[in-house]
Amino acid sequence: MLFRQANEQDEEKRKEEKQIVKEIQKKELCPTCYNMRYGGVYEDISKRRIYTDDVVDCFLEQYPRNEGHTIILVKKHYEDITQLPEDVGAHVIKIIIKLTQVLKETLNAEKIYVCTMCDGGRNHLHFQLIPRLKNDMLIGSKVFVKPRGVVVIDKEKINELRNKMKSCI
Ligand SMILES: [Zn+2]
Repeated sequence: MLFRQANEQDEEKRKEEKQIVKEIQKKELCPTCYNMRYGGVYEDISKRRIYTDDVVDCFLEQYPRNEGHTIILVKKHYEDITQLPEDVGAHVIKIIIKLTQVLKETLNAEKIYVCTMCDGGRNHLHFQLIPRLKNDMLIGSKVFVKPRGVVVIDKEKINELRNKMKSCI
């Protein structure tokens, strides 16, 4: 299981993270680029990374809306999808398709929803893959606003996702 309910301590931690992000955005800086360079903004992704190459970094969301909620981060800074060069976009779509297949199969999910928003202050282009599981009561856009939980580092499951991604790229 890669998901658990959030407790008060988690909510507090998330609030602190949001505050750090806000402070960085106030300085007209990108929190993701800042974090890649100096750290200290987001939790370390190495234990929850599923796939990486020169273009993207794919990892489980720290505060997922459902089990398997995954972030595909485009490494180079683009503010949102309007700035993404088409050839880079073609690679990103390829990764989205593969990862969608891998998540669907591994979690036995009904559907995998894909979205990109990059709303708010300065942002860094990323895509979200949110699984809808077989026994989920909520479907459609309600999946996007499910309460956030916390990722669980289930090494066996993460290794399974990693190995499946490796074998299909
Ligand atoms: Zn950035």
